[in-house]
Amino acid sequence: AANSNSAPAATPMMAQYWSLKDKAGDCLLFYRMGDFFELFFDDAKAAAATLDIALTSRGEHGGAPVPMCGVPAHSAESYLARLIKAGHRVAIAEQIETPAEAKARGGSKALVARDIIRFVTAGTLTEEALLEGRSANRLAALARVGSEGEVAIAAADISTGRFEVVAVRPDQVDAELARLAPSELLVSEAAEEVPEWVARQVVRRPPADFSSTTAQKRLEGFFGVQTLDGFGQFGRGELAAMGAIAAYLDHVGTGTPIFLQPPLRHQASGRMAIDAATRESLELVRTMTGVGAGGRDGSLLGTIDRTVTAAGARLLADDLASPLTDREAILDRLDLVDGLARDALWRGDLRRDLRALPDAGRALGRLVAGRGGPRDLAQLRDALGGARLLRERLARRPDLPPLLARLLPGLDGHGALVDELTRALIETPPVDAAQGGYVAEGYDHALDALRETARDGRKAIAALEAGYRDHTGIASLKIRHNGVLGYHVEVPAKHGDALMAPDSGFTHRQTLAGVVRFNSSDLHEAASRVTQAGVHAIAAEAAHLEALTDAAVSRREAIAASCDILARIDVAAALADHAMSHNWCRPDLADEPCLDVAGGRHPVVEAALAKAGERFVPNDVTLSPDDRLWLVTGPNMGGKSTFLRQNALIVVLAQAGGFVPAAAAKLGLVDRLFSRVGASDNLARGRSTFMVEMVETAAILAQATERSFVILDEVGRGTSTYDGLALAWSVVEAVHEVNRCRCLFATHYHELTRLAETLDALSLHHVRAREWQGDLVLLHELAEGPADRSYGLAVARLAGVPAGVVKRAEAVLAKLEAGREKTGGLAAGLDDLPLFAATLAAAPAAAKDALREALAAIDPDALAPREALGELYRLKQIL
Ligand code: ADP
Repeated sequence: AANSNSAPAATPMMAQYWSLKDKAGDCLLFYRMGDFFELFFDDAKAAAATLDIALTSRGEHGGAPVPMCGVPAHSAESYLARLIKAGHRVAIAEQIETPAEAKARGGSKALVARDIIRFVTAGTLTEEALLEGRSANRLAALARVGSEGEVAIAAADISTGRFEVVAVRPDQVDAELARLAPSELLVSEAAEEVPEWVARQVVRRPPADFSSTTAQKRLEGFFGVQTLDGFGQFGRGELAAMGAIAAYLDHVGTGTPIFLQPPLRHQASGRMAIDAATRESLELVRTMTGVGAGGRDGSLLGTIDRTVTAAGARLLADDLASPLTDREAILDRLDLVDGLARDALWRGDLRRDLRALPDAGRALGRLVAGRGGPRDLAQLRDALGGARLLRERLARRPDLPPLLARLLPGLDGHGALVDELTRALIETPPVDAAQGGYVAEGYDHALDALRETARDGRKAIAALEAGYRDHTGIASLKIRHNGVLGYHVEVPAKHGDALMAPDSGFTHRQTLAGVVRFNSSDLHEAASRVTQAGVHAIAAEAAHLEALTDAAVSRREAIAASCDILARIDVAAALADHAMSHNWCRPDLADEPCLDVAGGRHPVVEAALAKAGERFVPNDVTLSPDDRLWLVTGPNMGGKSTFLRQNALIVVLAQAGGFVPAAAAKLGLVDRLFSRVGASDNLARGRSTFMVEMVETAAILAQATERSFVILDEVGRGTSTYDGLALAWSVVEAVHEVNRCRCLFATHYHELTRLAETLDALSLHHVRAREWQGDLVLLHELAEGPADRSYGLAVARLAGVPAGVVKRAEAVLAKLEAGREKTGGLAAGLDDLPLFAATLAAAPAAAKDALREALAAIDPDALAPREALGELYRLKQIL
């Protein structure tokens, strides 16, 4: 990538480089040198490794060669995309004057001035090439203000302008961040830790960016308003979070204006709380393990997504990521899905219409950002025009679901813009405006006249060519056009002399190997008419483009709102379509906390089995206030996890306002959903520690309410048998006695089944298996009562463990079981255990008070995980 004579080791350039690098902070510095962006030192090493390009060196610094690599400026975008994807941020330092200007300023040796013109970061991308159409790309900010620790999160998707803010309790931070899944998360340099899973996305910013007082001013400036009151009343935390976003957008200077819609205030209370660990284990919108981990394929979203527009796909992802808890809102969505489910013809028509609509939301984003072109305007024209037709057709239906009836008017009001765009633009305009030709004939008479002139000129040139051929007798004479000479006459070399004569009327311009080129005054005149008219025409078109863009941009909020409505219709139709083709049912909402599912299925497992030609076995669940904790036992691979998760997914789907994979379902609304998987099932997360398992379990015990739904899969198995059993035992007791939530608990600790004797809202269930002719048959069918045995050896045989080994294990097992007969086994003595509630009450009073004091002194939000563990030990000692 050598393209400049000056080496970075030359002192002035070094100085310039270091001052820019200083500004760039922890971003990679793209340093413009001629046709290349160069990277040096550690930046070069990191970029070369990520991009798999050659690492070379240039000059010396402190006696050592300076590592360097470079990418061509004209194709920088694809390199940027890869660097961003790999988690880097990049500062672009451009030459901000020409070498001539530098010379004029500072003499022949002057260094061209450079400055950082923008930062390219994952959360602030606007380049279409770097964005994924079907998923949102969010920049979030987490702010904490005041002594009470008011916390708020703001999130902006600058590709569509969506801007939202939510005030949360400290214990909801994790769940909210997990819902938003930001590409970048802004946190104050002065702030506390963030959840570990999001650490990679964190960008530390100066505390001043998070000041709620300056935020107000900053946001008013950003939105160009006198006061924010028109957008709603915001708390200090909310202001601080939104202000941090505005400050960061200002800092990164995307090089283009940024469009954000007025901030939408979210109520965390209106939505189901689902923390990061739960999302991970349920794989709602992306997978966490296996091939393609982190992608949509194999997630709930990937399996059921039948949306036909990119905006619909983005909204469905949002819906699944944040199910509702507001009964009326859920019923509204369900009614819409229901209406569309009942009428296949209507649904088909609607989906066909929607499919034809372009992604107007992102086209609008580009236009507002000043990067739009004629094609983007045409996309608005087609999308909004299509929306108008859609609305007219829908308005004629007699039985519109209420939600749709309420949304419909929001598709109106773009008539004038659509008409204007329709008259102004050709059917399929080019993406790029530079060549012109996109404004339709008849829209502007002056423009038409210019085009006519150009056309006439071209005709005149064609006539000249014919005339010259006649006149010179050279049949191979041609009039050609190129960028250097413009229009010119060209003849093969052997005829060149004939036109060279001074009185020929031709002027020699160029002699090449095979041809000689000439000009003539007639041609010159005709050509300049064509060129002039062309230049004016392009200018006229550009003026129209600007005016039309302004017209569209001035209606951006109404347009964005219409796009959201189209997306909502798409999502409902997609859910209905999927539900109908998979025999899903409409869930009923009950008042009491129950979960009553007949013939429930796991959509993702079922789809995988169907591919292999196998059938999924549906299972029922009937949780109610009197029977709210099911202990599920049975052999490995028997279907326990699948059963647990399918019920969690049914809850998510129902409260997202969709149908559910079951024959019938009824549920009381769930406020918080938890899913935990025992440590050893969780190796793929790369931190399969028992500690993590316990931290996560602790969060459930602290947060689950009577309205929550919890699935616990093999919790306690990440440690030794005795520890594990003891913990699983006490966790079940606590969930039953204290949290009193609905819970499915899968375990291989058969001993836990004894809890049924003391806990009256707990019941025992197992997945059925049978040994048949020496083989284990897993029926994947849930039945009442405890499993009669564990079938561990049979599973081992099934898995291909050599027969000799299994035989030997049988012998060992026989011995162990004989021993158990004598001692009472693993759970010996547990029968005399006092009840859980009793142990809570029995702690000596003095110790209890010291304990109370110590507990009260702890601020959980101020503790790092390690400190929390230390505190736990301290508390134990007081006990
Ligand atoms: P466990 O948690 O008991 O070890 P899993 O739920 O992981 O078992 O299920 C193991 C495998 O059994 C799944 O990958 C799936 O292929 C199959 N399976 C589970 N449940 C069903 C079902 N209801 N019908 C058909 N196959 C099932």
